Amino acid sequence: MKNAISQRLKEVRDKIASVCARVNRLPSEVKLVVVTKAAAEEAAKEVIRQGEIELGENRVQRLSRISSQISDFLQSSDENEKLPEKVNWHMIGHLQRNKVQGVLPIASLIHSVDTLRLAEQINSSAGKLNLRPKVLMQVNTSEEAQKYGVPVGAAVYLAEQLFSMPNLELVGLMTMAPLTRDKNAVRACFVRARELFVELKGEQMARASFKELSMGMSADYEIAVEEGATIIRVGSAIFAG
Ligand SMILES: *Cc1c(COP(=O)(O)O)cnc(C)c1O
Repeated sequence: MKNAISQRLKEVRDKIASVCARVNRLPSEVKLVVVTKAAAEEAAKEVIRQGEIELGENRVQRLSRISSQISDFLQSSDENEKLPEKVNWHMIGHLQRNKVQGVLPIASLIHSVDTLRLAEQINSSAGKLNLRPKVLMQVNTSEEAQKYGVPVGAAVYLAEQLFSMPNLELVGLMTMAPLTRDKNAVRACFVRARELFVELKGEQMARASFKELSMGMSADYEIAVEEGATIIRVGSAIFAG
């Protein structure tokens, strides 16, 4: 298992580097979030041994459990193992308002803010906990009826509301492409997200920290990097097989 994971991880890293070279970007401009949702605990530890420190989960219960397992692992490691001091957890999946309080102390970035009500909950819980979480606004860039994500037409308005909230920091956008083999349809979604991202960057309320574009998964991260992703979220390409 160990070798398989390090091999697949290397393949992903190599592909990121070669796409970046082709489109004149630096690999350091693309943050790889390793999505551990379908990984065994041992497998998650293995990617950390390989130097990965950005990890993602899409469900709160699982995020709580695995993040505490991993922090035990990091603390108990012996001196022969050169492990990072800590890892950063990304909450990438749909977030219910009643789960916000549990996520805030764990997540370094919440990718999935797509309604005003959720944002208000984050803002008020964060205020009570004396935190100021970084969040991304999830945008529905595909024409098909996606369950989550603010429609493109409503995105500027919601972003302005997020920018004005004192206890959270809107640092960019997240999107998911439709599940299809049609690469043009996938690319069109990523282009739409980038255009919206550029538009919002130009907003008066946007700060310098508004700089992240989270898009691309195992099936489509190369297209996402071509189209300007600064964060990609990859699971099965590393853990399945
Ligand atoms: C599971 C998941 C991913 C990773 O998907 P893979 O196809 O396994 O790479 C990325 N983003 C979100 C929101 C997910 O739920």
